[in-house]
Amino acid sequence: MTYDFDLFVIGAGSGGVRAARFAAGYGARVAVAESRYLGGTCVNVGCVPKKLLVYGAQFADEFEHAEGFGWTPGQASFSWPTLIANKNREIERLNGIYRKLLVGSGVTLVEGHARLLDEHRVEVDGKIYSAERILIATGGWPHVPEIPGHEHAINSNQAFFLEELPRRILVVGGGYIAVEFASIFNGLGAQTSLLYRGDLFLRGFDNSLRTHLHEELGKRGLDVQFNTDIARIDKQADGSLKATLKDGRTLEADCIFYATGRRPMLDNLGLENTSVSLDDKGYIEVDDEYQTSAPSILAIGDVIGRVQLTPVALAEGMAVARRLFKPEEYRKVDYRMIPTAVFSLPNIGTVGLSEEQAREAGHEVKIFESRFRPMKLTLTESDERTLMKLVVDAKTDRVLGCHMVGPDAGEIVQGLAVALKAGATKQVFDETIGVHPSAAEEFVTLRTPVN
Ligand code: FAD
Ligand code: NDP
Repeated sequence: MTYDFDLFVIGAGSGGVRAARFAAGYGARVAVAESRYLGGTCVNVGCVPKKLLVYGAQFADEFEHAEGFGWTPGQASFSWPTLIANKNREIERLNGIYRKLLVGSGVTLVEGHARLLDEHRVEVDGKIYSAERILIATGGWPHVPEIPGHEHAINSNQAFFLEELPRRILVVGGGYIAVEFASIFNGLGAQTSLLYRGDLFLRGFDNSLRTHLHEELGKRGLDVQFNTDIARIDKQADGSLKATLKDGRTLEADCIFYATGRRPMLDNLGLENTSVSLDDKGYIEVDDEYQTSAPSILAIGDVIGRVQLTPVALAEGMAVARRLFKPEEYRKVDYRMIPTAVFSLPNIGTVGLSEEQAREAGHEVKIFESRFRPMKLTLTESDERTLMKLVVDAKTDRVLGCHMVGPDAGEIVQGLAVALKAGATKQVFDETIGVHPSAAEEFVTLRTPVN
């Protein structure tokens, strides 16, 4: 049987574009369908615009701190519409780059919603394409619980396109998106409350990071409320919103933003026409080579619900392209020691096991910890503290985890991830010469365990 393509990719996001480009580069005949925007979530409503907004919010600190260094900044004012318009222009530029990358590497771009007709055929806008293999890389979509009045709330997709900066905003959730956006809105001057249903946000992160970040956000005037959940939302006559909490209290705001997780994007995908099965959380089930239960169909990225990060989707896309079309270069994706950052203000940067995970896994651990005032803030009024922590296996001396809350933590953790992946011991850290004066050098000068 001959097919139109060797590989038909559904979704031109992080994973899909990477798989398509690499497969085409290896000589395969590849098509990619995209219904919404080139570059997917990360480029359009995720990592990239989020980071631009974080940079925007950081300027408030810079203006404030400048005075300690002798500057008298003029009356600073902020224009949300300008930031959003500039952000949109940059994203359009990136969309163009993605188009060029795809077309330039010989991939056929099909713009429209793709629906599976069977295990070898896809329909886009009434046109049918056949392929020997199909890769589902359709990503995810914000999930907002259906409480009464949920239609008055926004999700992260909409947050990037608000016409005005809300004067008062409630951010609901305690994961990456909630914490990052609460920092953004707070930094830009909105009166911001972060409402999380549990005892402490960022479940799964090292407890020291969670408590330290909580303290730091409080110092910056962000109102963080734990054990708090909204029961209903009502729109009031003046257009503002009233949130009635489960404990009976009410809060008023101009905007309520839900960041309560994401679901796999399977809408109208036609999975019912195939034997692709889902796992118990509703994500596409794959084996360790991204093979679904249908022999010709693979899936990667957020839609398989493993680690929902862009670099992971990229690695999975590359692994699929290599396994199918360049098997001599194929290596399985290694999910150990994935570094990650929460781009809150201040940042979290982390790699490896948290203290709790290490103990749970049976390690006897030594903990090294340091809290200090960043040098840049010594001439300012700020009492922000940086936290650095190493989790070390007491028996083998291997560093199991590196954790940081502080400026540039997201940048610093990348290098540490290389060391941990290479199996560095605490002795290797100790024998590494620091970069002075820097915050990062603290990671190689932690001498005395705290426990
Ligand atoms: P996506 O990038 O979501 O791409 C899927 C694509 O498929 C989309 O373009 C979609 O339109 C298309 N599609 C869906 N269905 C169809 C169909 N039937 N037909 C045609 N096309 C279809 N990760 C990080 O590593 N760092 C960060 O800082 C970070 N920040 C984030 C901030 C936010 C607000 C969000 C929401 C996510 C963030 N992420 C971050 C996560 C990251 O964006 C995702 O993990 C990544 O985009 C997943 O890539 P993917 O290829 O699986 O899916
Ligand atoms: P997360 O899964 O990280 O967090 C969801 C949060 O919402 C949790 O705190 C969860 O609470 C809470 N929650 C879930 N359901 C409800 C509900 N019904 N009512 C109230 N609260 C609820 O999802 P995000 O949306 O923040 O982000 C999605 C993913 O995108 C992240 O996990 C991450 O992989 C990726 N991402 C990465 C970023 C980065 O790398 N910097 C930035 C942004 C996103 P509980 O803990 O109690 O379950």
